[in-house]
Amino acid sequence: MVLLGSTGSIGVNTLLIAKRYNLQIEALVAGRNIELLNQQIAEFNPKLVAIANHSDKSKVNHSNVFCGDEGILELLELTTSPTIVNALVGYAGLAPTLKAIELGRKVALANKESLVVAGEFIDISKIVPIDSEHFGLWYLMSDRPISKLYVTASGGAFRDWKLKDMQTATFAEALNHPNWSMGNKITIDSATMTNKLFELLEAKWLFNTTNIDAYIEKKSIIHALVEFVDGSTTAHFAGVDMKLPIAFALRGKVEEEILAPVDLLKMGSVEFLPITAERYPIWEIKEHILKNPHLGVVVNASNEEAIKKFEQGRCNFF
Ligand code: NDP
Repeated sequence: MVLLGSTGSIGVNTLLIAKRYNLQIEALVAGRNIELLNQQIAEFNPKLVAIANHSDKSKVNHSNVFCGDEGILELLELTTSPTIVNALVGYAGLAPTLKAIELGRKVALANKESLVVAGEFIDISKIVPIDSEHFGLWYLMSDRPISKLYVTASGGAFRDWKLKDMQTATFAEALNHPNWSMGNKITIDSATMTNKLFELLEAKWLFNTTNIDAYIEKKSIIHALVEFVDGSTTAHFAGVDMKLPIAFALRGKVEEEILAPVDLLKMGSVEFLPITAERYPIWEIKEHILKNPHLGVVVNASNEEAIKKFEQGRCNFF
């Protein structure tokens, strides 16, 4: 397979699964973490490599290195692997998703921004999502008629903060996720609830429904629920670890233990809470965005710019 974003949180977990199943890595794509990339090159021996900046090329221990956004697309054209894992972050992931589909490959897609900004132009039959909530939904689906889909949210770094303290919260504080260890951008998106809005859009394109909502479940043990027309609701329980959705995305079928089962007695009570626009102002636009999903491109661009400003201390959290 080809792995885009190999040095990130999803990328590193993907390589652990690749190692477990002895999957060959044809190409690795990373951004600026050349030290980790060199370790991955030594271990997985890819034929092709791409990085973000030309200025880092001489530091990469490989004879076939491509650079920049165009370099990723050139690299993809030279590959033959049936599966391309896209674990790049943000809008930069879109062009490689479209290229991979154009080349007729299966895309194991962690880069949810691809669907948020351009779901209308993406052939979903080629996509297998790497996202715990959508994996959970897929796992729960059955032939019985469904009335509604639910995904859960942890609530992010500020879920228990006083609203007035959130006004002065710093970037570092927003990175302090209560349950998951992930890349910076998705961690900020969790604190603002933008990540959950994006997941509703992702579900809209993947499952072709806007009858979908999200609730807070603070333990992140239940990832998704499916409500059926008959009045039953089923829930997907699994540990807080992306290796399970990654294993399914890469293998299709998994018949051995990837994670230890959830210990129900240790878990104790679970509680569902509403997502309020007071704490998560982006929730005000949820219905409008679901009705007009093509506006995802606007929300995503605004979000990427706002995160940059917040990181640079040029705007506050709200
Ligand atoms: P990270 O920030 O940890 O990793 C991003 C990866 O993309 C890194 O390998 C980074 O390289 C690389 N990268 C960034 N910019 C460029 C560029 N211009 N050219 C080439 N490579 C680049 O993010 P995550 O792994 O957390 O998230 C990746 C995607 O998966 C996001 O869309 C996120 O929303 C989604 N996702 C993540 C989950 C998680 O648990 N982390 C769960 C579900 C979805 P480098 O580090 O070398 O600069």
